[in-house]
Amino acid sequence: MDNKIKKISKEALDFWGYEPQSTMLIEEMGELIKALCKYKRFGYEKADEEIKNNLLEELADVHNMLEQMEIFFGEEKISQIRLEKLIRTQNRINKLKGE
Ligand SMILES: [Mg+2]
Repeated sequence: MDNKIKKISKEALDFWGYEPQSTMLIEEMGELIKALCKYKRFGYEKADEEIKNNLLEELADVHNMLEQMEIFFGEEKISQIRLEKLIRTQNRINKLKGE
């Protein structure tokens, strides 16, 4: 599935280009913020399926647009930065746990 996601993401980026796709990312991030707020406002336990499904859709939308930005800016470079930041997070966790 991962390869199919990458293939179609690249096709979309090649077809529309950086400018509209980065704008789309901004739009989708706005929709995700709204979905997260709604999920929180209704209460995580009380939120119905529609609210939860909408949140999953917006997470997927943002993820798909991020995928295209990663292709545009260089997946390897971004993966490396992600790993460095996660290692920093892990170190912070270990410190807080007293390890
Ligand atoms: Mg959306």
